[in-house]
Amino acid sequence: MSGNSNLSIIDRLAGGAEVTREEWRVLLTSLSPKEQLLLHERARGVAVSNFGQGIYVRALLEISSYCRNNCFYCGLRCSNSSAQRYRLTKEEILDCCCEADKLGFNTFVLQGGEDPKQDDAWVADVVAAIRTAYTDKAITLSLGERGEEGYRMLKMAGADRYLLRHETRADEHYSQLHPSTMSGERRRNCLRTLKSLGYQTGSGMMIGSPHQTVDNIVDDFIFLEELQPQMIGVGPFVPASNTPFEHYAAGTVEQTILVVSLLRLRFPHALLPATTALSTIHPQGMERAVLAGANVVMPNVSPMNVRSKYSIYNNKMNSGTQSAQQLALLEARLNAIGYHIDFGRGDYNEHK
Ligand code: SAH
Repeated sequence: MSGNSNLSIIDRLAGGAEVTREEWRVLLTSLSPKEQLLLHERARGVAVSNFGQGIYVRALLEISSYCRNNCFYCGLRCSNSSAQRYRLTKEEILDCCCEADKLGFNTFVLQGGEDPKQDDAWVADVVAAIRTAYTDKAITLSLGERGEEGYRMLKMAGADRYLLRHETRADEHYSQLHPSTMSGERRRNCLRTLKSLGYQTGSGMMIGSPHQTVDNIVDDFIFLEELQPQMIGVGPFVPASNTPFEHYAAGTVEQTILVVSLLRLRFPHALLPATTALSTIHPQGMERAVLAGANVVMPNVSPMNVRSKYSIYNNKMNSGTQSAQQLALLEARLNAIGYHIDFGRGDYNEHK
């Protein structure tokens, strides 16, 4: 394809037109370095016109490193006997929320492995306590697959948002990343349930995960178009020791920000994080994602003594821009590229 036609696909995408499978493939594989820069510029223009130069911050609490699942990529998989396990108590979680509140955060994100001890009733009790103490904050959960009743109970207890990446839409690829006890279809059904219950719902996928093809990413885009999530998290795959994928190469910053920009053009109002994984593989990962159209950063507010134990992949960043205690540094780094922290709740808003 000639450069001109690449630019015209980008134009059509930016104008809200549907693009075909083949065009997605072209955008993912055939842009020249110059065209990629132009794509990032367009995407960042859309982000700035919808959100200004403010970047939303969410306080991330990692509440348990126990997990019943055995995902091939994740360092917390149940068969990893070298993983360090911990679970926070309700009191510790409330302390983290208190700390996050003092630091200025208006969104708490509780993430964890699928810990059987943190069942629906236990999590609902914690969410209700947070909701009572902080009536105006957004509460986001990222606690894996649950039943419809569980999701409903958590919503009633006060949760507003739920993050559950679909990981990969293609069933064959899903089965290359997960044991046969897990199902991509079940996960997608969880996402549909979450949306129907009124959660602001986040999905997403890793970039550069083992066996991922360009077509897999196209399938992901088409699935996201159908789901219409409010948030989309994409980060590079990063190898985790003592997992079947420990010797695979990490995804790249270029491929990841290419996907971020394409998502920004296709989903102009979506909340797109500059992920911790991207900051882990590249010292300027956060800035690169923001300049490609990302508009959320999720600094860690977990107790210092457990941070290194939530080791979903190697060397996961939990300091600097990824630490809730270092917001001044995050602000300075955002200022240096013309942005600033926005402490608002950052709800999804199509009409802003
Ligand atoms: N148990 C929760 C939270 C999982 S951790 C759930 O199932 O949703 C959040 C995300 O981290 C996962 O959805 C996955 O996309 C990502 N992740 C896990 N292992 C990773 C790895 N090795 N490299 C990059 N991202 C990874």
